[in-house]
Amino acid sequence: MSVSADGLVDGSAERPLISVVLPMRNESRGLARLFERLVPVLEKIGPYEMVAIDDGSTDDTLSRLKQLRRTYPRLKVVSLSRNFGKEIAVTAGLARTSGACVVIMDSDLQHIPEGIPALMEPWTREGFGIVYARRVGLDRGGALRSTLSATFYKLFDFMSEVKIDRETGDFLLLDRRVVDAFLAMPERNRFNRGLLAWAGFRTTTIPLEVEARHAGTSNFGFLRLARLAVTAITAFGTLPLRVWSYIGMLFSLVGLFYGAFIVVRTLIFGADVPGYPSIIVAVLVSAGVQLIGLGIIGEYLGHVYSEVKRRPLYLVQETLGFSDSPADPTVVDDPETPLAPDLGGGE
Ligand code: UDP
Ligand code: MG
Repeated sequence: MSVSADGLVDGSAERPLISVVLPMRNESRGLARLFERLVPVLEKIGPYEMVAIDDGSTDDTLSRLKQLRRTYPRLKVVSLSRNFGKEIAVTAGLARTSGACVVIMDSDLQHIPEGIPALMEPWTREGFGIVYARRVGLDRGGALRSTLSATFYKLFDFMSEVKIDRETGDFLLLDRRVVDAFLAMPERNRFNRGLLAWAGFRTTTIPLEVEARHAGTSNFGFLRLARLAVTAITAFGTLPLRVWSYIGMLFSLVGLFYGAFIVVRTLIFGADVPGYPSIIVAVLVSAGVQLIGLGIIGEYLGHVYSEVKRRPLYLVQETLGFSDSPADPTVVDDPETPLAPDLGGGE
């Protein structure tokens, strides 16, 4: 085992089976309790590591974490230079995991550590790439909040290129392949659940209780949630950019029909207010033409936007028959594909 910068033993010598990512902002008060419950669960599972990300806490979260490292050598700490928000904190944590699977959970004990074995079950048994915990039990306050959240999911569904399940939260397990795929997406405006949905892979959901926050208060007020919702929608669809050409077409059509109507009416009854019809028609048609123009720019901007995001073009779930296929019997045991030479050798 090596020794890390703070003079403590570095618990990363063996490759962990499971890594747990714990984003935290001002969670100092609940930390001791968190690890008291989490560590026994992980000890039973096998080689593990815990990666805590201090997301610019203003309380003593970081110094508490440093203390806790003396008790828990498998705890690793990443401290961000300021508050970057949970989505980015999670990404920073994922980038430093090495487990064969990774569990992401909140650090306020709303996600019960005892649920981890249940999350692992579909991954070990059936090789699922993503296992979500379906929220049961907790009503997150108020009719307004649930109406707004329902509206968000409807809008997201309508506008985006991927589908997300509104019942799932941010307590989840990822296979290493999914973690690598997720980290290969370099975009800056991140909505993790959308990115994971975009990545695809076999996904399943299991029901798990969500508990009330152990200590402190929620970091997500209305404004933060609203900002995340806007990021989510604009990062996964360009409809808001492109919709203007359709509105423009509607305006122009109304203008043209109204124009035709005026012409016919003037021919039959003569003009009443001189100049009025032509002004209205000109306004409608020119507004329409401008909006169509905006929409066309929106189309191109949408393309530019998706290009600059530089997401990988596609992701591979598994390969068969290549020399770099993993030496996993379930993978090479495919009657269609002859065994790769380096896997079949040596009787
Ligand atoms: N969190 C974070 N950075 C932030 C906000 C929140 O790392 O900017 C963490 C927080 O410490 C907690 C998790 O994200 O572990 C979920 O946040 P919180 O419990 O405040 O949100 P809620 O459960 O109310 O949605
Ligand atoms: Mg919480």
